Amino acid sequence: SPSSRIAGITPSGKDGWELHFAAMTRKQSGEDIMMLSVGDHDFDTPQSTVDACVAAVKAGYHHYTQLPGLPRLRAAMAAVSTRCTGVETSSSEVIATPGGQLALYAAVQATMDPGDHAIMVSPYYATYPGTFRAAGASFTIVEAKAENGFQPTAADIEAAVKPNTRAILINTPNNPTGAAYTRECLEGIADICRRHDLWLLSDEVYWTLPGAAGHLSPRALPGMAERTLVINSMSKSHGMTGWRIGWLTGPADMVALLVSLNLVTTYGLTDFVSRAAIEALENDYGVAEIADTYGRRREAFLAEVRGMNGIRVRGSEGGMYVMLDVSAIEPDCEAFAWAFLEREKVAVMPGSSFGDAARGHIRISLCQPEPVLAEAAARLRRFAAGYE
Ligand code: PLP
Repeated sequence: SPSSRIAGITPSGKDGWELHFAAMTRKQSGEDIMMLSVGDHDFDTPQSTVDACVAAVKAGYHHYTQLPGLPRLRAAMAAVSTRCTGVETSSSEVIATPGGQLALYAAVQATMDPGDHAIMVSPYYATYPGTFRAAGASFTIVEAKAENGFQPTAADIEAAVKPNTRAILINTPNNPTGAAYTRECLEGIADICRRHDLWLLSDEVYWTLPGAAGHLSPRALPGMAERTLVINSMSKSHGMTGWRIGWLTGPADMVALLVSLNLVTTYGLTDFVSRAAIEALENDYGVAEIADTYGRRREAFLAEVRGMNGIRVRGSEGGMYVMLDVSAIEPDCEAFAWAFLEREKVAVMPGSSFGDAARGHIRISLCQPEPVLAEAAARLRRFAAGYE
């Protein structure tokens, strides 16, 4: 029989993604369905990055690379971490990973022993619980309330601290809520980490899509650089989801230990992907354009939905998603989402897919061009007005 760690990663039973997969299948068999359910860009990777990769393949970059990442790649990642977190970062404080998900896995493996406890915030990104289960760790889910704009409160988080708590995992800007945590919120969490001697695992993969206030990283708060592990990725910022490249930023001694995790998992990154990533990081290929695109889409979509009867915008300041409270129309968000798919051919995620705190909501992904989002908003208006 399989190990309990592996068997436990995906809990059996409903996970709320049925709607997305059902809509996908129907779209693939020819039905005209608007897919606003997933967080993958509708556009391709910037051409300059693609060209750099092709050149690297042709130049013979087909070999093993250094376990923590090529030196120039680490330097480029460190320079971006300096900008992302506001803390001067050296190459020895970053380790390259195939995607932010592996950086998250590394952060959890680095901080949790079997039987240890962690705290995470709901609504959460779908892989979080499984990543802790894979480490044999337990966790408490603290709800960030919709009425607080999905900002968690320090009091709620502190109430969940136990003697065996080792880490708190947060994500800002947030998937699925789009909430960008305020300075006050982050200071409260940092204070708990310092007083209880906890690690802060900070998932900042959406940092280039921060919303109006600009990105705030908890790593920059007093006493936090030595206890924060930041999850970084090129997937969203550089339009490179399928390339699988990200990194972890943290104290140099922790990063040095994590090189051994790369040894037994990935054995280093793909050579030509690393070469392309160096150019993309050093030249910010696509970053400003992608950020502008999502900024425009978010503003235009929110302008449409703000006046709609029975619909309230929550969170939605940054990242790639908008979270709408539809409970005044239909308290059961799964029923709402399924009916919206049936009647208007628009696939959105029911909030319940992301934990209890987002019940009564739907998540709209902004990964479609503006005209599609405008049409989706028009359909939502019609659907909401005629809902019974
Ligand atoms: N963290 C969050 C909050 C995400 O939404 C995602 C992807 O959607 C990831 C991490 C992992 O991204 P990747 O492994 O592509 O870098």
